[in-house]
Amino acid sequence: MLLIFGWGWRVKHLRTLTLRCARCGTTAAHPLYRRVLKVSLFFIPLIPLRTRYTIQCTACGVQTDVDPAALQA
Ligand SMILES: [Zn+2]
Repeated sequence: MLLIFGWGWRVKHLRTLTLRCARCGTTAAHPLYRRVLKVSLFFIPLIPLRTRYTIQCTACGVQTDVDPAALQA
């Protein structure tokens, strides 16, 4: 029996924030993404393994991880 499995990141744009970048210092839009690493079986994503929240500066492109607890406040 042939078993096809793999994994991949699923990315969802949650919202866009206007923040000052810690790297370049520019006040710019920072899209907030939720990235979920999922195991897939026969190309169907089934089991989430890891979830990360990141923001990305649109001026310089740097990505920064965000603590999910900080998003609740
Ligand atoms: Zn920046």
